[in-house]
Amino acid sequence: MLNKRFIRIFKHLMVAGSALTLATCASTLPQVQAESLPEDASQTAAAPSGKWLSLGELAARASREWPTEANETEGDLRVAESSHREDRKALDEGLHPLIMPLGEQPYPRLASHAKGSISVGTVTSGFLVQAAEIPIEGAHHRVLVKVSDRQTRFTTDEMRDLLMCAAKSVDHEVRGQKLGIGNLSRQGGGPLPWSVSHHNGRDGDLAFFARTPTGAVAVPEHLYHFGRDLQAADSPSPMHFDTQANWYLVKALLTCPNRPDIQHLFVASWLRDAILRYAHDKKEPKDLIAQAANILAQPHGALPHDDHLHIRIGCTGDDMTEGCIDASRAPVDAVGRTPGVQARLGAIRQALRSARSEVRAGAVRLLTLYRDDSSIAGIEKALGDVHATVRKAAADALAQWNPPGAVAALNSGLDGEVDAAVALAEMRALVALDAIPEMVARLQDFRVLESDRFDTPTVIVRKTSAELLADCGSFAVARAVLPLLTDDRMDVRDTARETLGRIANRTTADLLAEPGLLTGMGIESMADMGADNIGRDLERVVWAHFLEMLPEDASRDAVALTGLARRGIRVGSLDRGALPDLVRALLLPAPYRDNASRWIERIAQQKPVIGRGARANPAQFWPAWLVAKRLVSPTAVAGVAPAGGSGISADND
Ligand SMILES: [Zn+2]
Repeated sequence: MLNKRFIRIFKHLMVAGSALTLATCASTLPQVQAESLPEDASQTAAAPSGKWLSLGELAARASREWPTEANETEGDLRVAESSHREDRKALDEGLHPLIMPLGEQPYPRLASHAKGSISVGTVTSGFLVQAAEIPIEGAHHRVLVKVSDRQTRFTTDEMRDLLMCAAKSVDHEVRGQKLGIGNLSRQGGGPLPWSVSHHNGRDGDLAFFARTPTGAVAVPEHLYHFGRDLQAADSPSPMHFDTQANWYLVKALLTCPNRPDIQHLFVASWLRDAILRYAHDKKEPKDLIAQAANILAQPHGALPHDDHLHIRIGCTGDDMTEGCIDASRAPVDAVGRTPGVQARLGAIRQALRSARSEVRAGAVRLLTLYRDDSSIAGIEKALGDVHATVRKAAADALAQWNPPGAVAALNSGLDGEVDAAVALAEMRALVALDAIPEMVARLQDFRVLESDRFDTPTVIVRKTSAELLADCGSFAVARAVLPLLTDDRMDVRDTARETLGRIANRTTADLLAEPGLLTGMGIESMADMGADNIGRDLERVVWAHFLEMLPEDASRDAVALTGLARRGIRVGSLDRGALPDLVRALLLPAPYRDNASRWIERIAQQKPVIGRGARANPAQFWPAWLVAKRLVSPTAVAGVAPAGGSGISADND
């Protein structure tokens, strides 16, 4: 069944198609990172995030994930969330365990008087700092069962206070009704798969109050849809809209003391009518009813909110000074142009020269978030700071921003770097900025930077370079990697083999069995010998010969597809029609599954990773996601997704 949203996704993909072929290694970093992580995704679920995400990174990620609403809906504030009910349901049923919390953002408070939580940027691209956590259950509220394990019950201090006040007030007026709370935000904010908004703690999904046919209080476990007859359409047992309690909820939200500015209360028009009619009959104050009528609205460009009341609050004064933006969307550099940030910029620029290293590192981060052009030289200079924390902050910053001179600064920083973590950050930044020649040159950099920290491995520069080049490397890169096949270190040789395998989508054993390859070299047959036993010199010669025999203009995709075909999976062209075959290829070992995953990412324009160190197992992630997005039919991927066993299985209910 084609729906409107589906078609819009495809329009977007087709427009973006040409840009995708130029996709840089920036988009492949999580794969490299994931190789050192345990296979079992459940072990990585709780991995703390030490990564500071820029607004731009979040925005880029969000627009990759939810291109349709972000690009096409009228630019007002009413883009509440995922507009397609079935999409959301499919996500609920298949994917939520893959959503990892971003965790607390190490957000520097510089030249700041803001207290408590901070909401940065917009509701569709911002993030949340020092979030307030809503308890799973309190005297007057409870977090919906399905939501309680999603790590989405974080919000701003102001929203928490308002929700707790409103819940208490409703319980006071209507005995026994507890407010059911759905998605708020994740601890560090950022995108949720169920919504376009909810990024920075200023959105909340509230369940409607309901009653059973006997008039008893109903306890909805999920957000149920209420039809024009005010009956729940999809609850397991019958329940109806508790108009009285829902009016008291609206009333409390509008009258709680010290409440933040409420931008929106989204609700379906027939539920709005019922609530207002009740208030009218009850002879509530006219100005209160007028206020409610003004703020209760069915969002345009999205399906009616008939399954929850969506509250969105405005930026508070404190948030404003840190770059909170009331508009629902804004360009990457908008945060730095807000009056609140402008007023602090001078002091933050000064902080680049602070005597304290953590202040200097914080200044680097904030000035990058604000895209402060006048600080570019200072940030690049920070790559030479005496303190490793500052150098690493600068490398991470440049990876996201890419101001003029960044590649040269990173490359010369790497030349003199002695700290493993900083060198790794610099190399990742170089790859993210597509500095392939600089990274290829590092294949001959024989430094080994020892690390004494448990969270940073020793960095063998040439090995790390080969790893980071695996996904973006051309055949020219492959030729540059060849000498590492005869390296003195076994781990370097292993990495070189993996990188070559990834680029050509073949193992050494495949090469030995490649028709004509050995005879072309004057060797009868060595297939019986196996890759483990051929000497490293011979392995290098075999790979060199293979690369030599490739046509001058051979494309990596074309060659990689022949590698996959030798495994029995023949894919004509890398478009949507290839998805079922590529999903099957996810069950193959490396390197085929890695390339299949990369291709699916490209075709679907989606990365199965949210939050650092939390890359999902592709064979688990893709089938459900592609079916949910109607990019493949359920039958096409039947039997591919292993059921359970890894801690990331689907919902139980
Ligand atoms: Zn909502």
